[in-house]
Amino acid sequence: MTRLHIDWTLCDGRGLCTELLEEMLAEDDWGFPLARDGSAEPAVPAPLENAAAHAVSRCPMLALRLVGRTS
Ligand code: SF4
Repeated sequence: MTRLHIDWTLCDGRGLCTELLEEMLAEDDWGFPLARDGSAEPAVPAPLENAAAHAVSRCPMLALRLVGRTS
């Protein structure tokens, strides 16, 4: 199963990923992404894998990473 890892030490909280991946991520009061499922490293549903990969590639701080991706 693919999961989205967010490195909070790198994230600057501008919320780009929450716009690109709004099905999975909400924005907290300071603009930092919060997983809608409440987990620290949310599972990426198969239909959202490409969108998640796009969000990872667009993160300006390189704070996002997909882990456990098999394809
Ligand atoms: S795109 Fe990257 S830097 Fe911006 S809020 Fe998301 S994780 Fe943080």
